[in-house]
Amino acid sequence: MTEQDKPAPSRLVVLAGPTAVGKGTVANVIREEHPEVWISVSATTRPARPGEIDGVHYWFVSDERFDEMIAEGELLEWAVVHSAARYGTPRGPVEEALAAGRPALLEIDLQGARQVKASMPEALFVFLKPPSWEELVRRLVGRGTESEEERERRLASARVELAAESEFDVAIVNHEVREAAGQLLTLMRPV
Ligand code: 5GP
Repeated sequence: MTEQDKPAPSRLVVLAGPTAVGKGTVANVIREEHPEVWISVSATTRPARPGEIDGVHYWFVSDERFDEMIAEGELLEWAVVHSAARYGTPRGPVEEALAAGRPALLEIDLQGARQVKASMPEALFVFLKPPSWEELVRRLVGRGTESEEERERRLASARVELAAESEFDVAIVNHEVREAAGQLLTLMRPV
């Protein structure tokens, strides 16, 4: 392989932000409309929601399998999210995507983003934020997929998470999903 044939080095982009800000929705738009972007599929111990496909939205795994992934060093990062289930990023596929020069995106929670920052500080850390706190609450309640108790738990996390913006390289305000996805794609283009 000559110097010229080598794929341009691609930078890992980590998208994080408070719960219910719409990270998943932004990632879904990119997944559906921008197949050139490689998006990490996380492993999780939570059960699938209706419409979610194993291997597409998440790898739905047992607690035992998740323990094994941790023990074998298979995860780039992992965290317990909303005091409920465990979520983690399989390491191998991220390394393969970067080696192949593909733009790569991780959509993870703040604890996970901090772990990636410790091990891959050269990544670009993007904070997705709501237009306002009221809007964040409205989105969280509007989604209607969580119980009252779960919602309270997520709101408590969101308050703490909003304060983390300063740890990130850049912030995108999620006024509208396509606009936010467009801004993210612009950041992902090779410079
Ligand atoms: P949900 O259960 O609604 O799909 O996701 C809950 C939260 O888990 C979201 O904030 C999402 O960003 C986070 N999450 C999804 N995958 C991962 C992952 O691989 N690692 C970490 N740390 N968080 C994740």
